[in-house]
Amino acid sequence: MILVLNAGSSSLKVSLYQKDLLDAPKISVQVDSLTTQPVLKIKGESPTPAPSLGVGHEAVLSALLPWFFHTWPIAAIGHRVVHGGVHFADPVRVTPQILDTLETLIPLAPLHQPHNVFPMRWIHDHIPKKKQVACFDTAFHRTQTPLATWFALPRRYHDQGVQRYGFHGLSYQYIAQQLPTITQASRVIVAHLGNGASLCAMKDGKSYDTTMGFSALDGLMMGTRSGSVDAGVILHLLHEKTPDQIQDILYKESGLLGVSGISHDMRTLLESTDPHAGQAVDLYVYRIIRDMGALTAALGGCEAIVFTAGIGENAPVIRQRVCAGFAFAGLVLDEEANARSDVRLHQASSKIEVYCLPTNEESIIAEATAGMV
Ligand code: ADP
Repeated sequence: MILVLNAGSSSLKVSLYQKDLLDAPKISVQVDSLTTQPVLKIKGESPTPAPSLGVGHEAVLSALLPWFFHTWPIAAIGHRVVHGGVHFADPVRVTPQILDTLETLIPLAPLHQPHNVFPMRWIHDHIPKKKQVACFDTAFHRTQTPLATWFALPRRYHDQGVQRYGFHGLSYQYIAQQLPTITQASRVIVAHLGNGASLCAMKDGKSYDTTMGFSALDGLMMGTRSGSVDAGVILHLLHEKTPDQIQDILYKESGLLGVSGISHDMRTLLESTDPHAGQAVDLYVYRIIRDMGALTAALGGCEAIVFTAGIGENAPVIRQRVCAGFAFAGLVLDEEANARSDVRLHQASSKIEVYCLPTNEESIIAEATAGMV
């Protein structure tokens, strides 16, 4: 069996897959509030009861992982890793050298990378015989040309790693694998709209450009992240706030939450009658249309749009409003199919195809891990 780990700053998701059945996990465990008061949720059946957990990453891992290893025959562990820098265009077997390289990338993703690397180091130190594979959120975008990855900054910064990397790559890879089963389109824009949100322009199933850049802060408006802001705003805020305070504003207090002042959650905002909720949703949709327009031009046209992740898969009204922005280009939505969240959402006369596909980042990690061990 294959264990898939997705470790964040305050949560941990562990999913167990049967090697010949990688679409859906046999059992998955989510631990929230890891650093304060861990809450464990289990989906699926276990022959033995789950262990009680202490507080903090170390305590949770040292209880949870031995339980998994004693209960099921686990051949390998696949990890979601946010940053692979310029080094990794594919998943990689974890060795001490690889761990060192991944640690050098911490400055590029200080909020996520340490939490991704910690369980790998822990497993390596405590259960050294277990095979581990790292799968990167950046890897799918390594096919982009330099044009898409450069900032117009002095070139020494590019050489120091200040480049546009792009994220959500595991989700985009999953969608890219599904595309040939539903469409012949070559130039496709995929909208991953979850708590984090980005667009990926794909040509023949490969990443051509994307809205997230150096960090997972760039591009679209998100649940609590701002998306692109004029760098001048940051300089302005530096007069009254510290860098840590600005980081919190940009990552945790902005986006749908910041503009609505009500919630980061799209469901709550769509149900609300408060005008600020409406304004947040308007801005969210507008920013998607604007960036889709930019990517359409960058691709030299767009033959298909794919919606995925929490909002993309479950919010017909958001899909409908985004698609309305492309009526000028001949996009004709099938309103009934959209209301049902079918896979195919466009009418036969539409000049742009539209699809809704559920994403499955964890199965991509399980597949890559199974393939490498
Ligand atoms: P994450 O990026 O954390 O994996 P998800 O992909 O689960 O997040 O997306 C979470 C977002 O999806 C939230 O804003 C949530 O409100 C939204 N969402 C989920 N279901 C619906 C729904 N039925 N209608 C509107 N929004 C929804």
